[in-house]
This record gives sequence, C-alpha cells and structure tokens, in this order.
Amino acid sequence: MNPALKEEILARRTFAIISHPDAGKTTLTEKLLLFGGAIREAGTVKGRKNSKHAMSDWMEIEKQRGISVTSSVLEFQYNGFHVNILDTPGHEDFSEDTYRTLTAADSAAMLIDAAKGVEAQTKKLFKVCRLRNIPIFTFINKLDRQGRDPFELMEELENLLGIRSYPMGWPIGMGQSFKAVYDRHQQKLELYNPDNPKAIDTIQLSGPDDPKLDEAIGDEQLVRQFREELELLDVAGDEYDKERIDKGELTPVFFGSAISSFGVQTFLDHFLKLSPAPASRESSIGTIDPLSREHFSGFIFKVQANMNAKHRDRVAFLRITSGTFKRGMNVKHVRTNKPLKLSQPTQFLAQNRSIVDEAYAGDIIGLFDPGTFRIGDTLVDGESFEFNEMPHFSPEHFASITVKEALKHKSYEKGLQQLTEEGAIQLFKTYNKYVEQQIVGVVGVLQFEVLEHRLHAEYNVDIQMERLPFSFARWISGGEEEMKRFKEKQRNLVTDREGRIVALFENEFQMRTAQDKYPGLHFYENSFYQ
Ligand code: GDP
Repeated sequence: MNPALKEEILARRTFAIISHPDAGKTTLTEKLLLFGGAIREAGTVKGRKNSKHAMSDWMEIEKQRGISVTSSVLEFQYNGFHVNILDTPGHEDFSEDTYRTLTAADSAAMLIDAAKGVEAQTKKLFKVCRLRNIPIFTFINKLDRQGRDPFELMEELENLLGIRSYPMGWPIGMGQSFKAVYDRHQQKLELYNPDNPKAIDTIQLSGPDDPKLDEAIGDEQLVRQFREELELLDVAGDEYDKERIDKGELTPVFFGSAISSFGVQTFLDHFLKLSPAPASRESSIGTIDPLSREHFSGFIFKVQANMNAKHRDRVAFLRITSGTFKRGMNVKHVRTNKPLKLSQPTQFLAQNRSIVDEAYAGDIIGLFDPGTFRIGDTLVDGESFEFNEMPHFSPEHFASITVKEALKHKSYEKGLQQLTEEGAIQLFKTYNKYVEQQIVGVVGVLQFEVLEHRLHAEYNVDIQMERLPFSFARWISGGEEEMKRFKEKQRNLVTDREGRIVALFENEFQMRTAQDKYPGLHFYENSFYQ
C-alpha cells in the first residue's frame, strides 16, 4: 500500500459525541475545537443548544445559513491526528439522522452529567453504537458541581447500558470540595483551581501513596477516601484490557469539567491514542479494509435537504471508506450503475462550508445532490460493490397521513417517496385493514413539520395529519406458526417499505404484554434485526 496514503488514514479519528441534552456536548465540542486551534474563542459553536426555536425560527436559521443547522462535521488537526467529529443533534432536531450519523463513526465519546447519570437519549444512542460494537470512551462531566458517587455512576453504566468500565482517572472530591483528578495510567495529579480552572497544575506522583499527594490536596479525609477508593478499584474493578475496549465491551472513563476545560485535554490525548483509525466495513464482496484497498469508496449516510425554497439542492454526506478522494474525480454510483463526477464537495467546520480538494478514508465530505443520492448508496472507483443496507430505527412519533386534494395524489406519492429515501421519515402501511392507511413514523417530532413544509413547498401538496398515540415500533420475526398467530391476533400491525412486519405500541407495558404472549418471537428496535 502507498505509504503516504496509509499514514493519512492511520492519523484519522472519526467519532461522534453521544449524550443527553444539557450534559455539556456543545461545551465539550467547543473546548476540543479550541485545543485543535480550529476556533479561537468560546461561543463559536452555537445553534442547536440555544435553540428554544419554534419551527419558524428554525427555518429562518436554515435560510440564513443556506444549509441546515443540523448538519455539521467538525474537523481539526491535533498532535499529528486528523480529527473528525460527527455532530449528533440532540434537542428538537433529534431525528433518525442522529442515529444514522453514528454508522459513520469509528468510535464514540459518551458524555455524562455527573449529577444525572445515564439519561434516556444517551441510552438510545449507545444502543446504536452497540450495533457495530464500536469503542466507547466516557467523559463524566460537571465535577465542579456536586454529582453522584463515581462508583454509583459506574454501576449505572453496567446496569443500564451493559458496559463495564475502567476509570482512567479518579476524582478527589466533587462540587465545592473538588480538588483534583488522578490519572491512573500516568500517575499524574491534575489539580483543580476553582478560582482559575484553566490554569491546570499537574504533579507527577510515584503512585497514589506518594506524600506529595497529601501535600497537594491538603485535606486528610479526602485523601484517605481517595486512597481507599483507588484500592477498591485495583482489587475489585475491571482490569485495563485494550482488546475489550476495542470491542466496545469496556469503556475507559474520564472525569472532568468541560466548562472549565478541566480534564478535557487529558481526555483528548488518551482518546486519540486509544481510539481506532478508520475501520473496515462489510460489503457485498466481503470486508473493505481501508489499509488494503487503495481505490476510493464510500457510502452516503445522510441526505440533508436545504429548507430554503430558492436553493432546493441537497447535501449528501459521504463517509469515505477507502482510498483518496480528489475533487473532480469520476466514480461509479453503484445503485444506478452510472458514472458520476464529484465536482462540488464540501467539508464542514463549525458552520462554515469550505471546498475540499482531497480527502481520505475516514473523512466525511458533503456532496452537492440534485436528487441522485439515497441513504446507504455506495460510490466506488474500480471494482464495484455495495455496502450493507443501512438500518431503520424505531420511530417514536406516529401519524396517519392523507392528501387533502385527491387530484394531487401523484405528486403526493412522489414527495413521500423522496422524503422516505432521504430518510426524513419512515413510511408504513396498515396491515390487514379493510381500508389501507399510510402511517408516518419519525424519531423526532420536528420531522412532522419538516414533512408538511416540504410537501407543500416542493410538491405543492397539502396533507392532513392525525397524530397517533404510539411511541414504539418493533420489527418482528420468528417461527412461521407463531408469526401467523401474531399476525392474526395482534392489533396495530403495519408493514415497512420492504414489507417487513412492524408492531406499534403505545407504551412499554403494552409491548411487554405482547412479548410475554409470544415468547418465541423477536422484537427488534431496528430493521437490522440485531
Ligand atoms: P448540550 O445540550 O449537551 O450541548 O450542553 P451544553 O454544552 O449547552 O451545556 C448545558 C449547560 O451545562 C450549559 O449551561 C453549560 O454552561 C453547562 N455546563 C457544561 N459543562 C459544564 C461543566 O463542566 N460544569 C458546569 N457546572 N456546567 C456545565
């Protein structure tokens, strides 16, 4: 393999930050960008978080920026690494895109609020990471405030997410009494100074028993407690095991305070060293390994429509899976078997678009899309193949939908198809009902408004939507007999676009009742049946 290409690929780290709203993702991202020199001051990464925006404001932002606020890939150079952070929108604009974005990441940084522990959205995003068993690195944030006991938080990781943890650092005190974090690997003490948190004092110790520790902390009880806790970790905790980290079975845990930049650099340094370079992916011709295939290949994981009526173009996000991308290169669009010239690629840093001339396996580029691309499309140079299908994820909001004017039925169907292919919505049909009904499912409720708006603006079609009381969708599979019984007896069944049976439930209780009733069937949260 060309050594220059290999070097480029090995330097790449492409990851997503997964968290629940308000855990501090924007703050952490900003600090990471500051370290990378990609931005000069705090307050540059905004948009999503302050957006208590109503829909109209949101569209206004879309207009001003020219491209959606929900789409960004942040990249910067740091210590010889080329870092790509995939943004995963978390507030109102949480959508299936957020899940799909994770399919383009090689690892994830999981951010947890020390006071709140593992929250709902983190849990959902974690499950998607689990589908590919990518390594997960945990940052426990807001140690400058009183939070929960670190042991309790580790237990929660295990109980709620099923992942064991290995603390890379351990805090001394918390909230008012927060003093330091001890780096278990480098045996370094990072002292927290509440008056000037950015001035981090680091002391090299010979180990946790080093008397320099007592001196630096100056609080006998805290030091005693710290030593006891560390001993407990050494005796009863999991061992450091890189193989288990690589498989996503063990998460290295870091502690800090993003707002004070405390612990962030330590996290970044360890994370970049331990996280994987661009990974191999399965395809129709077997594994595509970026370190053995020199030809360009990539897949589309997200299609972002421009909400500005004057600029109807879309941007398709492509994850490069092997080789080098060069502006203007010719590739094959495998689904349509047509050649394609990649002439208008964009990369995203904060909210500014810039043109990319060259990019490598691991990088994300945005391609100008006049309507060519669908989620999951493969682009290749050289031998043709396709990557495996992209999964659909359980929507959480549902509505039945009809066109207001029957005469516009054709445009309506066309619009729905386009929006489904872009992945903005999932379309289901009622199963075994006398009158077949179309049901739309979305992960984030904002997508309903997007649907209505776009059908009106782009297809001149007005729709009638009636919200349905369901909150869960499960893809069902199992033995023939039991499936038959299920299909006959179970209420609220629909089929997805591939004709797979999906059951809708209003609440967990309903879902559990069905699971108990049909113990031989599997209820999957995604169309991958995993
Ligand atoms: P996001 O919703 O996950 O992007 O969270 P933000 O970065 O917007 O942070 C949510 C709130 O938590 C903001 O008010 C931040 O200032 C605050 N915050 C973030 N990190 C810390 C931290 O380390 N300590 C404290 N005390 N507050 C923090």
